[in-house]
Amino acid sequence: MGTLIFTFCWVSVNAILMKLLSVNGHIIIIFAGIPLIAYLVVSLREKRIEALIKTTIDRVQVDIDALIIVNNMTDFSKGINKDEFHRMAMIGIINIHMVDCVAPDCPCKEEYELFDVTSNQFSTLNENSPHSDTVFLDHFIKRYYEDAIVKFPNSPAINIAFSFYLFRVMKNIHASLIELSVATKKKPSLQQQFTIIRYKRIIEDLIY
Ligand SMILES: [Zn+2]
Repeated sequence: MGTLIFTFCWVSVNAILMKLLSVNGHIIIIFAGIPLIAYLVVSLREKRIEALIKTTIDRVQVDIDALIIVNNMTDFSKGINKDEFHRMAMIGIINIHMVDCVAPDCPCKEEYELFDVTSNQFSTLNENSPHSDTVFLDHFIKRYYEDAIVKFPNSPAINIAFSFYLFRVMKNIHASLIELSVATKKKPSLQQQFTIIRYKRIIEDLIY
């Protein structure tokens, strides 16, 4: 998609130049430039993926940046079948994670129990293609929230976001309500207090 836009811009710029300068044989320059532009777009995209892969929870300084990482990850996991960029980013993140990961209780480890909420059963990790294993990805993202909470223990924002994730994705109402009450104890702002009350009401309305 990006390549197309750049190519279109490149052709437009050349069309204007052609009008201005009325150079013969300009069409050759247009086509000669297209592979160069395509190369630039691809390498820019790879650099962006690289930057995204390198930004991990332990490197960020503020809680909001940690939430941005988790949100990006959620977007990638949803886009693996629709978007080439998302798929590439997810493959890169998972591959690098698996090489570096030393946590024995991480979802990427064999011993970890991958509970599938949709089938109500434990599933095994698709080792050939972990980036497309949705049960694993859900647990993997859950782990990012947990790491973010450990890194920023005083941030109610992460607990609130995690609560919603536990409710919506992991279908764990009990854990979700616990996160909300933990957030309440972390001096939430007025707006966060409203969010907590609203979420609590949404969740409780669905149970009773
Ligand atoms: Zn791991």
